[in-house]
Amino acid sequence: MQLLLNLDDRTHELTDIHQRLKRHFGLQGPYRALDPVSQLVMALIGGKTRGEVSLSAFEGLVARFGHWEAVRDAPVAEIYEVICGVTFAELKAPRLKASLLAVTRAHGALTLSPLEDMAVGDALAWLERLPGVGRKVAAATLNFSTLRKAALVIDSHHLRVLRRLGYVGPRTGIAQAYDLVMPLLPESWTARDFDQHHQLMKVLGQEICRNGVPICERCPLRSVCATAQRDGRRRHDAGQRRQA
Ligand code: SF4
Repeated sequence: MQLLLNLDDRTHELTDIHQRLKRHFGLQGPYRALDPVSQLVMALIGGKTRGEVSLSAFEGLVARFGHWEAVRDAPVAEIYEVICGVTFAELKAPRLKASLLAVTRAHGALTLSPLEDMAVGDALAWLERLPGVGRKVAAATLNFSTLRKAALVIDSHHLRVLRRLGYVGPRTGIAQAYDLVMPLLPESWTARDFDQHHQLMKVLGQEICRNGVPICERCPLRSVCATAQRDGRRRHDAGQRRQA
């Protein structure tokens, strides 16, 4: 019973965090609507790369090859030539080709439409068996694409915020954070709500809860943040010691 009460409390708290971020940053958008294979490609080449650079690489692939079957059948060196501006292009080019081949082998064609009828957990597990596909890429493929599944995308900014808020430990990775946080989010949330939550946590991580020193005095989550409360206690204790 205690566990259930705690889960309810955390769900309530996360809903409150979502509302605070929405009030502070406003509605985020737009909600992408790529077909699932295009979204898989976008997510595979986009890791650790600025959005405009990965978008340019994605558009370069479309312009050069015209369709994903042509990317799948192209030599790795040609794929690399187009996406060489993204981080780790030398790893992403062979993984992209291998993933597109694996999808084709599994479904008899280059399509992810069989995932439409799968439960989110099964679809995540299926995607994560593809070369180079981790939890972030798999969740993005399910949530950002026209599959519109209730999966939470956690990137490095979002993960940093979760760690500082105290929802996950300081060394928790993305997949483990997903497993810890997903059960706490409201069952009523739509795919769009999951997208909003991801975007809001990401913008907080980019603008306020930054890598390095966070700007807690500007943060709408300060009163519910484990890090801010701990740092506040430290400052208070240091002040007490100075006065003693
Ligand atoms: S209060 Fe500070 S540490 Fe906590 S989420 Fe906000 S910026 Fe990050």
